[in-house]
Amino acid sequence: MQVKAPRGTYDILPNDSVKWQYIEKIMKDSAESFGFREIRTPLFEHTELFQRGVGQGTDIVSKEMYTFNDRSQRSLTLRPEGTAPCARVLIEHGVFSGVMPVKWYYQGPMFRYDRPQTGRYRQFHQFGVEAFGSNNPYLDAEVIILLVEIFSRLGLSDYELHLNSVGCSVCRDAYRQKLLHYIAPLKERLCQDCRQRYFQNPLRVLDCKIEACHQAIVGYPTIYDSLCPYCQEHYSRVKVALEDNGISYIHDNNLVRGLDYYSNTAFEIHLPGIGAQSAVGGGGRYDGLVKALGGPDIPGIGFALGMERLLLALDRLGKREFSQPSLDAFVVVMNDSYEMQGLQLLNELRRKGIRADKDYGGRSGKAQMKYAGKTAARFVVLVGEEEVEKGFWTLRDMQNKEQFQLGQEELISSIRCVIEAK
Ligand code: AMP
Repeated sequence: MQVKAPRGTYDILPNDSVKWQYIEKIMKDSAESFGFREIRTPLFEHTELFQRGVGQGTDIVSKEMYTFNDRSQRSLTLRPEGTAPCARVLIEHGVFSGVMPVKWYYQGPMFRYDRPQTGRYRQFHQFGVEAFGSNNPYLDAEVIILLVEIFSRLGLSDYELHLNSVGCSVCRDAYRQKLLHYIAPLKERLCQDCRQRYFQNPLRVLDCKIEACHQAIVGYPTIYDSLCPYCQEHYSRVKVALEDNGISYIHDNNLVRGLDYYSNTAFEIHLPGIGAQSAVGGGGRYDGLVKALGGPDIPGIGFALGMERLLLALDRLGKREFSQPSLDAFVVVMNDSYEMQGLQLLNELRRKGIRADKDYGGRSGKAQMKYAGKTAARFVVLVGEEEVEKGFWTLRDMQNKEQFQLGQEELISSIRCVIEAK
């Protein structure tokens, strides 16, 4: 039986990995220009971290985690998201006792047992940032500005930024009661999941993707109207900071996010042109998370972007042509007996920063020339009897078909001169 990649996973072949490298670099450069530094955490964690940090009532914890017992019967989970692991690091390494805020970014695979479709996978990749240690609303604005900066550097200007405040635990509790009261007589008209959500976390009924559920609760009280004075002030400062920085947003009463530890600012970024899975990233403030994980009462804010959906956007919206890395030089060994000289020359070229390769398939000189043409190398360097005996190399410029006989130093500087000018 042929073994295939598991459902919901996929391979990234070289033609596609150039696209990944392109967006990863933009994200890394953008985050670093905002003072964020990279953090890498394990791909699996103790299951309890996500149960406590993401919340039992969420879809992620209740139905999407890849959880298994290791050989010592410890329950481990492939990370479904990056925020709880960052909070764990903050506590475990005592980072919170140093200079605050701590600003981190991460990227890598996440795992959720979701129903695969375009833009939704079981192993997918996120780029995320987290800033711990300040509840200053301007930090919220900065994090959102970074998100928008990434989109602008990627040439994705047709985004929609949705913004809301989910309040603090005090105003949210009061709001929850109001919402429960409002939805109670309408419960029968909700989908099965929402009936469950009604008991576990009624706010999540608001972001159900099923239109009939929205219709059923039309006219519901908004959390915006229930915000306490502190949360109102916090939200309005975030909005003003965004406006002052030329960032437009849509206030979205339905935006409550699926995770229990969110507080105050919540946001999502959509690219309407890419189809059903148009939410490309989301984030918000999670002031209760570090404490919920047994650490000190330290606030935080962050976002995560789905790399696959960004790539889909770049492809669908035809935003960019990606060129493959090409060789600078191809060493053609005209006769087997000069293989060693060919290999030494090749290594010297590479040491000098020239992207070079040779044939290892036993091809004839003519076939190697043909193969060199396919690699699209700009230069071919011929290694034949005359060259080895007389101590020069023949350099052929594949673009204008000119040919020169040069000593090794001259050869290297001629190639470098052309590639540096590119
Ligand atoms: P979340 O951590 O659920 O807030 O998701 C943040 C972003 O990660 C989303 O906006 C998506 O772009 C991406 N994402 C979440 N789940 C998946 C998935 N199963 N497959 C692909 N991308 C995903």
